[in-house]
Amino acid sequence: MARVGFIGLGNMGGPMAANLVKAGHEVAGFDLVPFLCDEARKAGTHVADSAREAAKGRDVIITMLPAGAHVLSCWQDIVPHVAPHTLMIDCSTIDVESARAAHDLAAKAGLASVDAPVSGGTGGAKAAPLTFMCGGAPEAVTRSMPVLENMGRKIVNCGLAGSGQAAKICNNMILGATMIATAEAFVLAETLGLSHRALFDAASTSSGQSWSLTSYCPVPDLVPTSPANNDYKPGFAAALMLKDLKLAQQAAQASGATTPMGAVALQLFQLFAANGHAGEDFSGIITMLRGQ
Ligand code: NAD
Repeated sequence: MARVGFIGLGNMGGPMAANLVKAGHEVAGFDLVPFLCDEARKAGTHVADSAREAAKGRDVIITMLPAGAHVLSCWQDIVPHVAPHTLMIDCSTIDVESARAAHDLAAKAGLASVDAPVSGGTGGAKAAPLTFMCGGAPEAVTRSMPVLENMGRKIVNCGLAGSGQAAKICNNMILGATMIATAEAFVLAETLGLSHRALFDAASTSSGQSWSLTSYCPVPDLVPTSPANNDYKPGFAAALMLKDLKLAQQAAQASGATTPMGAVALQLFQLFAANGHAGEDFSGIITMLRGQ
């Protein structure tokens, strides 16, 4: 079992750290929010006084923070103080450029590192069916697996530094666009007098099938796991979808890729969030598409 430092004990990091404790790892954690530190303590995490303290003498350090700037500032703070054998893993969703800069910081200090953003949301963080998308040197990714396996079900080795983040933003661009397409199809079905059930039964067994339809259906009472059944309480907040679509467009512009569907999805989620729905589940965009 490993000695793990876990920095960022929020909606995702809190339950992920708790799963490491359950698996028998010795976890030292830190968050800027005292309430989250108390919750982590109750779950068996040793709470440190600072990120640097949580990182000292650890085999593995995991960061789960809001954005690239937080990750870089945290890594700049802790990297000079960690043990030489430490493996650095960032599980946050951040821009590819910052992910590569974090790898560079670790490499300059002689440390192995992995970018390992997750798919699966807060439900996945608690019950551990997360998918990790990993980028880094092959030996570093291999070293990360025994720890990541205790927090998720699937670990995908996506390639070198930054590739995990690249996979994550490509995946979520697909998700944002397919959710809008699925929601639009239900809105069209409503105007054509086609029942939700009929469209679901037809499309879920035809070429319109997707995760957005069969696992996260944007209309209620068809899929037990849909936030639509709970008045679009997250789930995966529209604000987080918006963040990921922005990261995708930023990466597309920087790399010269043409992603018009991703660009339109970004505009629609910007409008949805600006209309006061940032905290709702992203599948709630169907209400905006109905003109409500
Ligand atoms: P969150 O805001 O709940 O948690 C982030 C935590 O980081 C906060 O508790 C904050 O206090 C802490 N923090 C910020 N700076 C810190 C510092 N310097 N030292 C210590 N703690 C610090 O966010 P979350 O929902 O847990 O998401 C974390 C990451 O995972 C984000 O990058 C997000 O995009 C990604 N993600 C979230 C979901 C989801 O459904 N919530 C799903 C997949 C990926």
